Amino acid sequence: MINRSTSAKLFEKAQTYFPGGVNSPVRAFKAVNGVPLFIEKGDGCRIWDADGNEFIDFCNSWGPLILGHNNPVVKKHAFETIENGTSFGAPTRKENELAELLISNHRFIEKIRFVSSGTEAVMSALRLARGYTKRDKVLKFEGCYHGHADALLVSAGSGLVTLGESASGGIPKAFADQTIVCPLNSKEAVLEAFNSYKDQIAVVIIEPIPANNGLLIQGREFLQFLRETCTANGTLLMFDEVISGFRVGFEGAAGYYDIIPDILSFGKIIGGGFPVGAYGASKEIMSQVSPDGNVYQAGTLSGNPVAMAAGYSMLKECLKPGFYQGLKAKTDKLVKEVSEYATSKGYDFRMFSVESIFWLAFTDKIEIRKASEINPSSMQYFKKLHECLLDNGVYLGPSGYEVGFISEAHTDADIDLAIAAFKTALDYAFL
Ligand SMILES: *Cc1c(COP(=O)(O)O)cnc(C)c1O
Repeated sequence: MINRSTSAKLFEKAQTYFPGGVNSPVRAFKAVNGVPLFIEKGDGCRIWDADGNEFIDFCNSWGPLILGHNNPVVKKHAFETIENGTSFGAPTRKENELAELLISNHRFIEKIRFVSSGTEAVMSALRLARGYTKRDKVLKFEGCYHGHADALLVSAGSGLVTLGESASGGIPKAFADQTIVCPLNSKEAVLEAFNSYKDQIAVVIIEPIPANNGLLIQGREFLQFLRETCTANGTLLMFDEVISGFRVGFEGAAGYYDIIPDILSFGKIIGGGFPVGAYGASKEIMSQVSPDGNVYQAGTLSGNPVAMAAGYSMLKECLKPGFYQGLKAKTDKLVKEVSEYATSKGYDFRMFSVESIFWLAFTDKIEIRKASEINPSSMQYFKKLHECLLDNGVYLGPSGYEVGFISEAHTDADIDLAIAAFKTALDYAFL
């Protein structure tokens, strides 16, 4: 195992300050071997930990860093903005600039509201959906993550269509009862839910490319079915594009599948590596938001100018011709070569991908579309793979349920190095 002695010391200290030693649970490395690595710096596709170990990074801060670390253009714009102060609690030009860039390049947003995280975006959008439809219930899918708002931190009970069961302490049953949970990729379940809760469902929320519990790629047909079912029932369709937005193309999954949702939520990439979230919809729906309408939502640091500047610069790069094709070509190469190697060795392993998102699945299934199709015991292989990848200079998010991301900063040579590391790590995992 690589030397983690400095990280181990820092982690010991951190455990005296923070629950589990971290400020977000998955960082604690509980699902893999060893102590979490404390990161000192990042540049391009590489990161360095406190012990001086160097890695090719496929976590990219869980997705935001589509240009890699420390991108010079983003950094320059953020620095220039900081020169003039960091926050005013009053409107700034930077908010207009980012909004204009977004709205003029995204067919499905007419108006937007900036907030400070993905969770906040989703939470606010749900309130808007409820306010707009004057209905209370929300339908979500098992295996989709939407941040930690009460209404969505629920999991399915036993049965095809169930009211949510709190997936966390501190969520009143009465809140969880407002959320209906269905399995992904099941029209039958959705129809049953609409039957049982007729005229009560305000919004159907889905990660159109579910990427928080493995990569559970849905067929376009299922998403189209949701669109039609929502329209027929006076229910809003919300795409939570916190990961997929600006990742699978500038217009995210809505553009990728060419399906028009009623509300969209964003996070991750939109802030250029700073804490930003946003929700957007048609002018009509957004007119319900305060101060135009009576759905209240506010934020002291919302639309923070430094974060707006970073987001603007990052998204501007994404709009350059060939940007997304370049990411996809690199991802396809990684996926193809690693998958072919695994097949040649007879390993039960597949790499699933959409554009520049990939997921390592220890399975012999050709496709996995539902959370229940993931075998929890397969995670023992991920654990070994993760450790061996670190030993060979590749950093992945520390859980087998998480996806990886390719950034613009990964060169073909970096991908080749990573492919070699994956082959070594697969041999080790299946030893
Ligand atoms: C990350 C994520 C969130 C939560 O965003 P935070 O910024 O972590 O609060 C919500 N929805 C999806 C789809 C996400 O991937």
